[in-house]
Amino acid sequence: MGRVRLTETVFRDAHQSLLATRMRTRDMLPIAELLDQVGFFSLEVWGGATFDTCIRYLNEDPWERLRALKKAMPNTPMQMLLRGQNLVGYRHYSDDLVEKFVERAAANGVDIFRIFDAVNDIRNMEKSIKVAKSVGAHVQGAVSYTTSPVHTIEQFTKFCIKLADLGCDSLCIKDMAGLMTPHAAEEIVKAIKEEVHLPVNLHSHCTAGIAPMSYLFASEAGVDILDTAMSPLAWGSSQPPTESIVAALQGTPYDTGLDLELLTEIKRYFEKIMEIYSPVFNPISAKLDTNVLVYQVPGGMLSNLVSQLIEQKAMDKYDEVLAEIPKVRADLGYPPLVTPTSQIVGTQAVLNVITGERYKMVPKEVRDYVKGLYGKPPAEIEAKIRIKILEDEEPITVRPADLLPPEYEAAKREVDGLGLARKEEDYLTYALYPQVALKFLKGLAEEEPLVKKSPKTEASAGGRMSMNGPAAFSVEVDGESYLVKVAPAGMTIQESQPKAPSDGVTAPMQGVVIKYKVKKGDMVKKGDVVAVLEAMKMENPIYANKSGAVKDIHVPEGTTVGAGDVLMSIE
Ligand code: MN
Repeated sequence: MGRVRLTETVFRDAHQSLLATRMRTRDMLPIAELLDQVGFFSLEVWGGATFDTCIRYLNEDPWERLRALKKAMPNTPMQMLLRGQNLVGYRHYSDDLVEKFVERAAANGVDIFRIFDAVNDIRNMEKSIKVAKSVGAHVQGAVSYTTSPVHTIEQFTKFCIKLADLGCDSLCIKDMAGLMTPHAAEEIVKAIKEEVHLPVNLHSHCTAGIAPMSYLFASEAGVDILDTAMSPLAWGSSQPPTESIVAALQGTPYDTGLDLELLTEIKRYFEKIMEIYSPVFNPISAKLDTNVLVYQVPGGMLSNLVSQLIEQKAMDKYDEVLAEIPKVRADLGYPPLVTPTSQIVGTQAVLNVITGERYKMVPKEVRDYVKGLYGKPPAEIEAKIRIKILEDEEPITVRPADLLPPEYEAAKREVDGLGLARKEEDYLTYALYPQVALKFLKGLAEEEPLVKKSPKTEASAGGRMSMNGPAAFSVEVDGESYLVKVAPAGMTIQESQPKAPSDGVTAPMQGVVIKYKVKKGDMVKKGDVVAVLEAMKMENPIYANKSGAVKDIHVPEGTTVGAGDVLMSIE
């Protein structure tokens, strides 16, 4: 036991939790030099949602951010959060992509890789751990913490032993939902420290109001590192405040030894930052939310859920959906709720409630999860549920990435074909986020304005709209979303869908028709997948309502449709 060290999250998790990950590099650099003098164990600066947000909303190159921060903070190890085989995306990538990505991240300045997997399947972490080790980085193996009938201290400890066997340099208990109680923190830290002789880091969130207490108990149990955020970006769904934890541990055997006066000087800078970023600050994220203790819903997932329900005009079903989440989670083998499993469980719960029948609609991502493509669920999925979702298909038993062909060379060829590559990293940006990267690499991306909330118009579902007909927009006014339909001048908007026969194939919810699997004249059988509707960021199959020939397709691909809109008729 002894001195506790701190990982400062203000440049990654803190602004991801409170400011929708919108902090710009130019607002990080002026304070970097002072942060570098504090003596943190590390500064978490990259990974999680930062990569996606940079190219999607900020017109910033995430690789350049990494280099700029490294240059400005040469003394403090720079840390990133890596989603194992998912890297900084939402799906599994091939091994060759994992290799290249980790290698380039290290070359551009990442010293410490914190690596986790949503379902704690070690097979999803092996490759990235191995590569990070081979390039000489510090690897922190993380265990995703959750509570359920199948998650025990013994299991978490066993998982940590596996991580140590893979050569990890330190361990992290990742309590992404902030539901670890002080007593649990004490027990788990003690158990791990007894079995594994590696530094242990505790990562938690203040969402439920417990984290600072858990940090104290963890300190007494021998934790080595704690994750904190500078106070203006702390509390709520973010980390406990750096200054407060430093003060709380002063004069104890766990004293961090950090300079409170220097931290106070840094704090003043981030107070100004919070003012600048007030337009993207959602007050809900700063509130205490004890729902997480009952429903296990992490803060980020909750705000996602609210926007999904508003989009589907089903806010009245909020309580029902909240109660459905733990049931879906149990059905799916108790996955910890973290990206991407939080989206998978949350969206299925929404669908179960708004369609009025459990598992009537199952998005591709949920099917893939049940099929084992995200790894082995913590508990066996009940046969009844599995068969309802997969029908006669069997789940896979191999490591999911073993089924993926190499991806890097193809991405490289495509980028080169368009003449868009300026550096090797551009191939990776494209391979991870093809659509968004293309716009970014072509120089067509624009920085989202940081303005006070005036009525904000945003094309729903990524701006895909049909130029021929009316398009639906979700308009936000004072935090309330409204769905409005607009059409080019001279075109009238039809309010409902009276033209098509009422027995056509209809959209069960609001979304974008991204693909038709059939064309006019094709013969289909009842239950065949005839279209794919992207709703709530997932792909949902639409089935034929009867057997026959496709008589007409009523809306083109790319159209935003509402619940009940007729997509096609079959005769
Ligand atoms: Mn976190």
